[in-house]
Amino acid sequence: MQIDKVYEPQRFEPHWARTWIESGIFRANPMDPGRVFSLVIPPPNVTGSLHIGHMLEHTEIDATIRWRRMLGHNTLWLPGTDHAGIATQMVVERELARQGINRRDLGREEFEKRVWQWKEQYGGNIKNQMIRLGASCDWSRERFTLDPGLSRAVREVFVRLYEKGLIYRGEYMVNWCPRCQTAISDLEVAHSDVAGNLWHIRYPVNGLPGRFVTVATTRPETMLGDTAVAVNAKDARYLDLHGKTVQLPLMNREIPIILDDLADPEFGTGVVKVTPAHDLNDFEAGRRHNLPKIKVIDENARMTSAAGPYAGLDRLEARKRVVADLDSIGAMEKIDPYNLSLGTCQRCKTPVEPLVSTQWFVKMKPLAEKAIEVVENGSIEFIPANWTKTYYEWMYNIRDWCISRQLWWGHRVPAWHCQECREIIVARQAPTGCPRCNSQHLVQDSDVLDTWFSSALWPFSTLGWPEKTVDLATYYPTSLLITGFDILFFWVARMIMMGLEFMGDVPFRQVYIHALVRDPEGQKMSKTKGNVIDPLVVTEKYGTDAIRMAMLQCAAPGTDIILTEARMESSRAFANKIWNAARFLFLNMERSGVEPWVPERLAEYLPEAEIGGVPVEDRWIFSRLNDCAQQVNRAIETYRYHEAAQVLWQFIWHEFCDWYVELKKLRFQEKSGLTAGWRNILAAFENLLRLLHPAMPFLTEELWQRFLPEAGRASRPASIALAPYPQYRQQATDYAAEREIGIVQEIVTMARNLRTESKLDPKQQLAGIVYSRGNALEVAERHSGAIQKLANVKLEFKAAAAPKSAVMRSTAEIDLVLEVPKSQEEAKAKRDARELDQLNRNIANLERQLADENFLAKAPPHIVEKMRATLAAYQAQRDKLL
Ligand SMILES: [Zn+2]
Ligand SMILES: [Zn+2]
Repeated sequence: MQIDKVYEPQRFEPHWARTWIESGIFRANPMDPGRVFSLVIPPPNVTGSLHIGHMLEHTEIDATIRWRRMLGHNTLWLPGTDHAGIATQMVVERELARQGINRRDLGREEFEKRVWQWKEQYGGNIKNQMIRLGASCDWSRERFTLDPGLSRAVREVFVRLYEKGLIYRGEYMVNWCPRCQTAISDLEVAHSDVAGNLWHIRYPVNGLPGRFVTVATTRPETMLGDTAVAVNAKDARYLDLHGKTVQLPLMNREIPIILDDLADPEFGTGVVKVTPAHDLNDFEAGRRHNLPKIKVIDENARMTSAAGPYAGLDRLEARKRVVADLDSIGAMEKIDPYNLSLGTCQRCKTPVEPLVSTQWFVKMKPLAEKAIEVVENGSIEFIPANWTKTYYEWMYNIRDWCISRQLWWGHRVPAWHCQECREIIVARQAPTGCPRCNSQHLVQDSDVLDTWFSSALWPFSTLGWPEKTVDLATYYPTSLLITGFDILFFWVARMIMMGLEFMGDVPFRQVYIHALVRDPEGQKMSKTKGNVIDPLVVTEKYGTDAIRMAMLQCAAPGTDIILTEARMESSRAFANKIWNAARFLFLNMERSGVEPWVPERLAEYLPEAEIGGVPVEDRWIFSRLNDCAQQVNRAIETYRYHEAAQVLWQFIWHEFCDWYVELKKLRFQEKSGLTAGWRNILAAFENLLRLLHPAMPFLTEELWQRFLPEAGRASRPASIALAPYPQYRQQATDYAAEREIGIVQEIVTMARNLRTESKLDPKQQLAGIVYSRGNALEVAERHSGAIQKLANVKLEFKAAAAPKSAVMRSTAEIDLVLEVPKSQEEAKAKRDARELDQLNRNIANLERQLADENFLAKAPPHIVEKMRATLAAYQAQRDKLL
C-alpha cells in the first residue's frame, strides 16, 4: 500500500484503459434494469487518426455516459467508423501512386481488395487511440458502415425508397470534380472568393445589321455551348428582339433569343447567355424552353468535340484562346475585374465543374416535412437552441440529394441494367434475369452511394435493423447525439429524415452541438497554419485526465474552446494536488496503523461521531460535498460541462485540499497520529473521487482502487465506473457547520491577505486581535488553535468594535487587526519606495511607446492592446502605493 511520490499518469493510464476494456464493464446489456441511456458515436473516418476535435467530442460524450452509468442507467455508447468513400479512396490512391500504380490499371475488384487491406492495417488506429484516451464505449458492438449488416440495411433502404418513388435516376446538373472523377453533393463544394474577370461579349442579332446584345460571363469558354440568350419579357430595351435570333461568335451557330426571368433587367445589360449543359440555372431555363444541351467540357475538364476548334484543350487553356479569338474578331466589348465565388472540391481543392450527367437522387421534400415537424413539436431538441434556426433554414430550402458517386469504394447502387432492353432493376439481391425481356445479360450499376447515405442510417442500422433485434427495441431512439455543427446537414438532418421514415420515430431526443477547439489566438487549428494540437502528444505530456479537465473547463455551450498550454498545465497541477492529498492521507494512515477503507453502502454514508461528537470539519466537508454533488449533477444533465468542471475544481482544490486536509493535518499533530475519525476522512475522499470520475477517469480509478480494502472487494463494484454517483441528500446539509468553518476561513484569509498586501514576512509570527460580538467571536475563539496555526498569528479575542487601524480587514461580523513590528514597517517603507520608482519608470516607457504614431502604425493590434492593459495595471498599482 503505497502511493508514488510523483503523479505520473503514464504509469497507470494505459493499464486502466486496457483493464476497462478487458473486463467488459462498458458492455451494454438490454436486460439490465435501469433507465436506458444510449448514444451512437459520430463515426470517425476509418482513414483518420484522432484529432483534438475528436478528443473534445469524446470527452463530452464520455463524461456524460460515465455519469449516466454511475446513476445506474442502462447505458450504451456504440462506437464505430465510417468507410468515408472519397476520403479513403483518395488516401489509398495516393499510396498506390507512390508505388507507381494507377487504380484503373488494377481494376475495380483488385482496387477494392487493396482498400480492404489498407483498412485492416490502419483502420484500427482510431479505435486504439480512443481506448487509450479512456472512451467508455461498448466495443463488442463496434460497427463499420461497410459491415455486412449495415450494407444490408443500405440496400433495404434504397429499395424501399425507390419503390416509394423517393429515389429516382435522372439527368441533372451536378457538381463534378475532375480530379476525383465523381459527382459530389452541394455540401461537399467549398466556396471561396477569388479575383476573376467579367468578360463582356457581343453577339450580333440576325436580321438587324449592326445590332447586337452584350452578355457578361466569368467563364467565357462556356459560350461555346450556348444554346440561347435570354432577355426579360418586361425589359423595354429589347422589345424589338422578341422572336429574333443571334449568331454565336466563334461557333457561328444561330441561337434563339428567349424570354425568361433568368434575365434580370436591373442587372448588367439585362441579357444573359444560356448554357444548359454547364450551369445549374441555365439547365433549368433550358428545361423550361426545351433547349438543347451542348456539352463542351468533359469529365476531365477538357473541351469536347462539340467545342469545335477548341476540342481537346484543357478548360483554362480554352478560356485563353476563346478570349483572344473573341478579341481578334472585335466581339470582346470589355473586361472588368470581378470577384467571384469559386466552388472547389472539399476533398482535393480542384475547381468543380457543373456538368450534366445521369445520377441517382433522393427526393427530399417529403422526408424533410416530417423532419421539420419533430423539431417544431419538441420531439428533438437542439442544444444550444440557436441551431434550430439554422436547421429550419436548410430544411425549408432543401434540394434533392444526389446520392450516386463515380467511385469504387463504397456501397454499390443496388440497381442492374439490362443490356438488351435497357430496363433498370432495383433489388435487394442480384436478379437472375430481366423481368421484362428475360435476358440474362444484366450489369450492376457501377456507381457507389454517397458516404452519408449509409451514415444517415447509423442510429438504427448499427442496432440490427432491418431485423427486429432486442438492441433495436431497447436502445432506439437513442437518448442523445453529441456532434459538431459542420455535419448538421450532411449527417444530423439526414439521420432525422431516415429515422422517421424507417423506424417511425426520431433517432435521438437531444442533439448537443459542441464548439470548435481553437488555438490561444482564437484561430481555427489547421495543418497549414501549424497550430494543431495533437491529442496524443499533449496527453502523453500532461496525462489524459488533465487534457480532459482542461477541455471541459472551457466547454460552455456555444462557446469555442481556447485550449492553451497554461490551461493544460494548471489542470495537471490540479491532478497533482489530488495525488498529493491522497499521498498525505496514505502516509498518515500508515503512521496510525489504519487499513484502507471504503464504505460498504457508498450512497448512504454520513459522517460518524468520534469521542465528543462528529468533528465540525467533517460535518462541514460532507455538507460542501453535498452542495457540490447537487451542482455537478445539474450541470452535466444540462450539458454545462464547464460549470461541472469549475464546481469540481473549486470544491476539490479550494475546499477539500486547501482547508479540509489542512485542518486534518492540525488534528493529526494534536493527537500525534490520529486513530479515530479516519472513516470520515476516507469516506469524504472516496466521495470526491466518485464525483470527479466522469471528468478524470484514470486518476480517480487509480486512487479509488488503492483505497479499496482487499477484504472488502467482493462487496464493492469492480470499478469506480460502476459505483454510484453522489447525489444531493438533504440530511447531509449542515448550515451550522458551514457557518462555523466559514468563520475560520474568513479570519485566516483576512490575515493572509493582510500579510501579502503589506509584504510582510510570511514566516514571522505576528500578533493580532479579533474584534466581534456574539456568536462569531465565540466560534472564532473555539477554533483559535487552528486559526492561529493556519494564519501564523498570535490572537487575542475582544467582544468590541475595532479601533481604526492601518492594517485591518473586516467582514460583516468580524474585524481583524494585525500589529506590524517596527522593523518590518521600515523594511516595508523601503520596499514600497523601490517599487514606486520601478513602476514610474515602466509607466513612462509604455506611455512613450504608445504615443509613437510610427510604432502604432506598424504594431499588430493585439500587441498594442496588451501594452495598454499592462499600462493600466501599472497605474493601478502605483495608485495603491501613493
Ligand atoms: Zn476532388
Ligand atoms: Zn431486359
